[in-house]
Amino acid sequence: MTEQIALLLAVVVVLLIAVGIGATALLRRRRGGPPPTPDPDQAEVLDPDVEAAAATAPAAAPAPTLERPEPVATRMQRLRARLARSGSVGQALLSVLSRGDLSESDWEEIEDTLLLADVGVGPTTELMDTLRTRTKVMGTTEPEAVRAMLREELLALVGTTADRRLAATPVLGDDGEPHPATVLVVGVNGTGKTTTVAKLARVLVAEDKDVVLGAADTFRAAAADQLGTWGARVGVEVVRSDREGADPASVAFDAVRQGRESGADVVLVDTAGRLQNKQGLMDELGKIKRVMSRQAPVGEVLLVLDATTGQNGMRQAQVFAEAVDITGIVLTKLDGTAKGGIVVAVQRELGVPVKFVGLGEGPDDLAPFVPEEFVEALLS
Ligand code: GDP
Repeated sequence: MTEQIALLLAVVVVLLIAVGIGATALLRRRRGGPPPTPDPDQAEVLDPDVEAAAATAPAAAPAPTLERPEPVATRMQRLRARLARSGSVGQALLSVLSRGDLSESDWEEIEDTLLLADVGVGPTTELMDTLRTRTKVMGTTEPEAVRAMLREELLALVGTTADRRLAATPVLGDDGEPHPATVLVVGVNGTGKTTTVAKLARVLVAEDKDVVLGAADTFRAAAADQLGTWGARVGVEVVRSDREGADPASVAFDAVRQGRESGADVVLVDTAGRLQNKQGLMDELGKIKRVMSRQAPVGEVLLVLDATTGQNGMRQAQVFAEAVDITGIVLTKLDGTAKGGIVVAVQRELGVPVKFVGLGEGPDDLAPFVPEEFVEALLS
């Protein structure tokens, strides 16, 4: 009898334990708690269909990694070797000036060098006069003294006092609301205008600015595509039209509106660069500017010029300057020319500073123009 009672008790205890374990497992599952650790020996008997399904399940798409553009401050230094290729003018001047006791034919050589480098007639005459006076006063041909004197005079010619910063700070509108700084980029096709817009966006992103691009060159779908690709690399939104030949002013308007709505710091607008008559250009750019201004004042109009085009480039500069108020110049392709003197000539002609220089085809080969580094590169 006692044995039977003991057996019954044992059975009850075992049953109670089994029920307890089952209830805990159920509760865990209901609460979403971790499943019990699988027995390693059991791992191989997992349902093969389930395994196959897990292997083919689409993995979450990786977040696109954005490029971090190169910081801006040291770009011109990095690109100095390329700039120095246009420096033959500095070297040529140094070698003649170091001869001492210069003859008239030496001075002619200096004049030719300056003119060939596209410095322009007016600035060349000025520099010649100053150099004549200073070499006489100096009375030495000691290389370091000649170099220092030439450095000073070239710097004076390029100018060190102009404000070369891009107007890229949001402005307060009449309504008391902050509006993005807006920049209109103009120039003839082929000068490097569209790539310059894209490179400028990278300059601004490197300075932690929020940028919106407007692809208002609606005559070339390729230009809008190009901007779209460059923008995506650095997470910059590009406003464009689906229709080729759409009204550029309406795209520019949409871009500025988008910039306002998203709280962007800067809106950069690329324009078509068809060479047309002055009146046509004036009408088109005037309209774009007017329409943009309804959303936010246009703080900057940048003219993109190809430094290798010499007098042709200067003529383009004049036409654009008559059509719209230019506030700054971007000189592209300075890496491929010995005609760095155009920096001086174009500033004189338009009365506005060179703000950026293009020194290659790489995405970060655009640098803020620093006169001291430019002159140093000419003389190195
Ligand atoms: P757009 O027609 O004026 O918009 O010209 P693009 O922006 O399409 O540029 C025309 C060509 O010039 C492209 O091959 C650019 O890579 C090239 N380019 C632009 N800027 C520079 C520069 O500073 N240096 C060099 N070497 N090439 C440049």
